[in-house]
Amino acid sequence: MTELGGVGVTPRTGYGIARWHDRTIDLGEPPAPEIVDPGDELAAFEQARDAARAALERERDRASERVGEAEAEIFDAHVQFLDDPQITDGVESAIEDGLPAAHAVRETFDGFVDQFEGMDGRMAERADDLRDVRDRLLRLLVDDESATEPSRTDGPDADERIVLLADRLTPSDTADLDPDRVAGIVTKAGGRTSHAAILARSLAIPAIVQVGDALETIADGDRVLVDGEDGRIVVDSDDEALEATAESGPEIRQGPVETTDGKHVEVAANLGGTGELTPAVESGADGVGLFRTEFLFLDRETPPTEDEQYDAVTDVLDAFTGDRVVVRTLDIGGDKPVPYLELPEESNPFLGERGIRLSLDRHRDLFETQLRALLRAAASEHGDGLAVMFPLVSTIPELEGALEAVDDVAADLADEGTEHARPELGVMIETPAAVLCADQVAERVEFLSIGTNDLTQYVMAVDRESEALADLHDPLHPPVLRAIRRTVEAGRAEGVRVGMCGEMAGDPDLTELLVGLGLDELSMSAVTVPAVKRRIEETSTDDAEDLAERALEADTRDEVRSLL
Ligand code: PEP
Ligand code: MG
Repeated sequence: MTELGGVGVTPRTGYGIARWHDRTIDLGEPPAPEIVDPGDELAAFEQARDAARAALERERDRASERVGEAEAEIFDAHVQFLDDPQITDGVESAIEDGLPAAHAVRETFDGFVDQFEGMDGRMAERADDLRDVRDRLLRLLVDDESATEPSRTDGPDADERIVLLADRLTPSDTADLDPDRVAGIVTKAGGRTSHAAILARSLAIPAIVQVGDALETIADGDRVLVDGEDGRIVVDSDDEALEATAESGPEIRQGPVETTDGKHVEVAANLGGTGELTPAVESGADGVGLFRTEFLFLDRETPPTEDEQYDAVTDVLDAFTGDRVVVRTLDIGGDKPVPYLELPEESNPFLGERGIRLSLDRHRDLFETQLRALLRAAASEHGDGLAVMFPLVSTIPELEGALEAVDDVAADLADEGTEHARPELGVMIETPAAVLCADQVAERVEFLSIGTNDLTQYVMAVDRESEALADLHDPLHPPVLRAIRRTVEAGRAEGVRVGMCGEMAGDPDLTELLVGLGLDELSMSAVTVPAVKRRIEETSTDDAEDLAERALEADTRDEVRSLL
């Protein structure tokens, strides 16, 4: 038995037969420049770009259906590389200098890959995206049909589950994987926050990255266990017991979990669309802590009707019968544009018209329609569990405006004789302003939910999308921890529940810290629910509080990390 280590990406365990993924394209040496016709080669390059763009658009649609809109945007980034003038100029001038199109693509892209790899953090991870676009073009230029219709998991025997091994995987390799066939992914390189890793997590495929050259010790056909929670790969060609332990993974726990000393912490799922409902129910989530309703508004020409919204919300309530389901009202703007709404062009969209600001002003019509659907859903068969929260609140008048809108809509529904009820109401705490007046917010609502993705962005003054500044966008920076603590204290003083629904809540390595900071509920993508539930059951509140106290006193993020 051999054991290798790497960085876990998806906290699940899988077991299967190792299969090396080899997509290297051997172009050989370029022919002499005098026998290359630049006109033909330029036309071939142009044609390959068109075909690649069309294939990327198809894959984008497929990823959007299977894993969600945010993940599908990765393919937009690929189209941008395909159309980047620096890259296309580079390829075209290499062709004019006498290289065939394929060699010119390889030479130019490799130059950019080297540049990206020389940078830090997430910029380096963009090199994977560039390689992906390069290989797609090369396959087209050498006439490999997998460039347009890829079949990533073909193995010699279509019945066996495979563990895919690779130097690195590209996002389109990953988006096309079939979780029923692929029991795991292990790569030599690649980062935890690379797009391919995010896709693997969304598809709930156990995955480990950064194993290094040691991965070469595994051969095609070896039987491999991938423990994505601990970043452990176990190779043992004979051990039958391995198979038995593999599928048990972090055991799915249906029902509430408690710390070792009996403190209940609710573990809920985030939903980005009703397509994610079944995995959320199956994950053992205690409810839904964040239903991002904006996904109902994307990828269409007109807004969803009141009835469509009612149906989507009641589907979730019916699937989580008796559990709490927190629906967030429309949070568009910022990084979530909706073309048919003609949102304003802004130089700082994250600081502009988004979230509740749009709902109370420019798009009050959409807000009222949504509230009608929600108040009707609250009176549906399983509507008791419904809770509604408002995004990006930064002033008390905004909150009061939203609460008044609820009252107005309720009065209209009553006048019409339409059945409705008032759901539990809450606020997302995701601006520093909301943290600083969390006590005044808590007096007016029934719950608070901390959105650490935006809160980190605004507390640290760093764009959540910035790759170069990714280290600053880390909720472990002490000021963010202090903001969380302050919110919990404000909620406690008013006796209202405080939950967290940003990405931070789904990292099992931070569970103890979050219990120590006093959160009542953690809400996350469904795949991490079992691992977080297990961590809660291993946590003692006293130790957790002690850890949180020390983290709050730390001077730096690295000091916090070392405490963990
Ligand atoms: C957040 O900001 O943490 C959050 C959960 O909302 P979103 O990521 O949708 O902005
Ligand atoms: Mg947010």
